[in-house]
Amino acid sequence: MIATIFLAFCAWTITLLFICSVWQTLSKGTNYVKMLHQIPCAGCEYFTNDYRLKCTVHPKKACSPEAICCVDFKVKTACCNATQKGQRKLC
Ligand code: SF4
Repeated sequence: MIATIFLAFCAWTITLLFICSVWQTLSKGTNYVKMLHQIPCAGCEYFTNDYRLKCTVHPKKACSPEAICCVDFKVKTACCNATQKGQRKLC
């Protein structure tokens, strides 16, 4: 009888720990995705959309979390840096 109660307790503890772990992982994942959506580089005038030189002003911090509060952000006005199906668009 005591062994059964102990095993039930262990089973419920493991189940609760598993649910907590899944919840924490999902929470971290959603927070990370929210943070990535705050990176403004895709809508910036200085973003080149070229992997060799992502940004002409801050090439090292472009498309990274460091760019979230970039003081040089300028709304994109030209369409020549936009892509369509992976190809460069010529204006
Ligand atoms: S200037 Fe700043 S916001 Fe614009 S592309 Fe470069 S790093 Fe990103």
